[in-house]
Amino acid sequence: MQFYDLSRPLTPRSAVFPGDTPVSLTHNLLLRQGDACNLSSITLSVHAGTHVDAPRHNSDAGPGIDRIPLDVLIGRARVVTLPVTNAITLADVQALDLAGVTRLLVHTRDSDVPDDVFDHDLVFFTPDAAAWLGDQGVRLIGTDAPSVDPVSSADLAAHRAFLRCAVVIVENLCLRAVPDGDYEVMALPLCIAESDGAPARVVLRTLTL
Ligand SMILES: [Zn+2]
Repeated sequence: MQFYDLSRPLTPRSAVFPGDTPVSLTHNLLLRQGDACNLSSITLSVHAGTHVDAPRHNSDAGPGIDRIPLDVLIGRARVVTLPVTNAITLADVQALDLAGVTRLLVHTRDSDVPDDVFDHDLVFFTPDAAAWLGDQGVRLIGTDAPSVDPVSSADLAAHRAFLRCAVVIVENLCLRAVPDGDYEVMALPLCIAESDGAPARVVLRTLTL
């Protein structure tokens, strides 16, 4: 059995969405200064690094991150590489074999973007592609881009299309070393009450046949 860690590490150098809170780490106690232990605090956006979006992100009535069902966040997933430049279109997703797939992780050129670089020209989903994936029965969509919408998007149409179909969105994965295929995914966001999102440790495990 092999594991792949798809999580981008959180550091003060982590790239964040333009205008969002940078990650900062404060050492409140330090052994080397004579304190009883090392103890740190962090400040970060709940959408920093690899993270899960809650329905609350795009709807005041939507559940927070603490209410996303665990059976969506853990289970069989398919990794597919899409060699697109920017837009993942309806034609791109209709060309995929998604029979029986409820969790889909999309590997694009954004996996090669370093953790400390924000891709302003990120790979995004067109709203009709998002809606189609939801209609096909996809319950969790993962992307290696920091958003499913373009940076300049005012209405976050792909986020809303996924939300309408109750598809959970996982963003900012790193799939660089992962061959396409079927795995078990564990995408567990921090249990922050009523939050619109939360950082997550996202791991793939090869399937035992
Ligand atoms: Zn997000």
